[in-house]
Amino acid sequence: MKELLSETTIKRLAYLLAGFFLAAHVMLFFIFRHYGVIPMAGFNLFSVLFYIAILFLIHKNRLAWFVGLSYLEILLHMGLAVYFTGWNSGFQITLIGICTLLYYAEYVGKTIGIKTIPSLYCVPLAMIVYIGSYIITELHGSPYSFPKEVSFRFQIGWAVVVFAILCLILQIFVTVSTKTQEILTDEVLHDRLTGLPNRYYMVSFFQKLSAADQNKKYWAAIADIDSFKQVNDVYGHNCGDYVLRTFAEILTKEFSHLELCRWGGEEFLIAGTSDIRDPFSELEKIRIAVQKHPFVYEGKKLSVTITIGAAWYEGTMSIDEWIDAADKKLYEGKQAGKNRVVF
Ligand code: GH3
Ligand code: MG
Ligand code: MG
Repeated sequence: MKELLSETTIKRLAYLLAGFFLAAHVMLFFIFRHYGVIPMAGFNLFSVLFYIAILFLIHKNRLAWFVGLSYLEILLHMGLAVYFTGWNSGFQITLIGICTLLYYAEYVGKTIGIKTIPSLYCVPLAMIVYIGSYIITELHGSPYSFPKEVSFRFQIGWAVVVFAILCLILQIFVTVSTKTQEILTDEVLHDRLTGLPNRYYMVSFFQKLSAADQNKKYWAAIADIDSFKQVNDVYGHNCGDYVLRTFAEILTKEFSHLELCRWGGEEFLIAGTSDIRDPFSELEKIRIAVQKHPFVYEGKKLSVTITIGAAWYEGTMSIDEWIDAADKKLYEGKQAGKNRVVF
């Protein structure tokens, strides 16, 4: 995502576009001169110099100027090209392609914080040039014209260019927006510190359970780090974060077959089904894994333990009642001296 919209990528793309426009105008200069359309050959000479100046503007990071001025140049060029050589030369179709580029520029500008002219105000201008050049050429004809086979090639060439632009830009929009959506959904459902799913993820998981396999039994456990406040108080908040991350690592590395989430603070929710033959032993394994893990923060050894309270799901319970039942067991564990599993 970031690579797609990094400043260097955007600048490179701007250079590429301006380079493409420059090359197109050099080519058009020779074509117009060859067929004696002198006013347009002259305009293209101006356009070549114009895009050399634009390359300089891009170099100076004036991307908004690049967008606005190029848009005006293209409108003017295409309008005049239709006026001088007629509707059959097909220049007008590029006005449609250029509008998608304009929207893309606005989108990129908004993402990286550059103000560009709103496309909504600019697009009608392209429409006016499009319709205007049609009316004028229909009413008055055009002072010059290309031989039939040249117009034929122009028509096909412009169609390819415009469809290519449409595909490219719209594909970028689809890719960027779906990717953004994926990233946001992932961020909303995961905890930043530990990378584990969060409470919102787990609640939707529980809601799905009600529709799941009726033959299975489900259990949920809350694992709470013992005397965690003391870790923060004695060694600092960063050390507390280290303990949380490490505990999450132990869970994801060794117990990924269970449903895991950071329920909040220093409490983690672990859930499983009756597929696990002895959930109590499974939770004991987690408790022992934490107790045995060498937690070392800035050279200091820490002794970290957890207490776990767990409860089976009974058919009539709400999710809140189920979690409360596990919480009660956790409380019992804490009262009985911590570092234990109560099912
Ligand atoms: P008990 O053994 O009874 O569970 O005691 P405890 O100290 O672990 O429990 P308590 O609820 O008193 O303290 C929990 C602490 O967890 C308080 C809060 O500052 C800390 N905490 C919550 N979230 C975070 C976090 O993201 N990072 C850090 N470093 N600390 C956190
Ligand atoms: Mg707690
Ligand atoms: Mg605690």
